[in-house]
Amino acid sequence: MPAMPYRTLIVLLAATLLAAMPQAALTPDALARLRFCTELSAPPKGAAPTACMWKKKTVTVRFLEGVPAVQNKVQKIALEWNAYSGVQLAFINAGTADIRIGFKSDGGSNSYVGTCRPALADSDQTMNFGWLTPGTDDVEYQRVVLHEFGHALGLVHEHQNPASPIKWNKQAAYDYYARTDKWDRATVERNLFDKYNEAETRYSAFDSSSIMAYYIPKELTTNHVELGRWNSTLSATDKTFIAQMYPR
Ligand SMILES: [Zn+2]
Repeated sequence: MPAMPYRTLIVLLAATLLAAMPQAALTPDALARLRFCTELSAPPKGAAPTACMWKKKTVTVRFLEGVPAVQNKVQKIALEWNAYSGVQLAFINAGTADIRIGFKSDGGSNSYVGTCRPALADSDQTMNFGWLTPGTDDVEYQRVVLHEFGHALGLVHEHQNPASPIKWNKQAAYDYYARTDKWDRATVERNLFDKYNEAETRYSAFDSSSIMAYYIPKELTTNHVELGRWNSTLSATDKTFIAQMYPR
């Protein structure tokens, strides 16, 4: 099999989304409410992302807080990764888990990338869902939960894949994310422009339907690459890539 690179792992989407999901969920109003995920402690540039891969077969997950209605949805969706990954997610109710989930409303949605994280106390959360409530629509649950657990399994954002064809209109991107997410220039550079090093990263061919891709308007690029929708399902490449990262 050709060296299927470590697919840079990061946030969203599926080509099948438009066919499979009610469009009402992605109206302009809904898009305007979407928030961008930021990676926590992404693999240091220049270090092999393989350093962030789990070295065991079962990764435990525990909720540190939250209401059952939300927890149950998150758990059900997260477990979809188990159908494809040799590293299995296992939810537990007691003890110290590898992945520890909080729901801080002012914390955005984010996760550490695999095992790449600073020294943490056992009680510190490693993943946050800042805007999921019992009333959040199911498409948004799928989009954000599959994405954050992609990070937790070691995936980074698809647009930072070394194979990404995107040529950024940087000023347009600075302006756009300052407006939508109040990001400063350094945050835009870290979350959009910085790519993982080709020589030190395993990655797949660029996959615009990856759950780890952002929605990116073509106006933010100079070569009119557009990621035209928020993906909310695992793409075919997401499934094969995680299976290659973590063989059964
Ligand atoms: Zn992300």
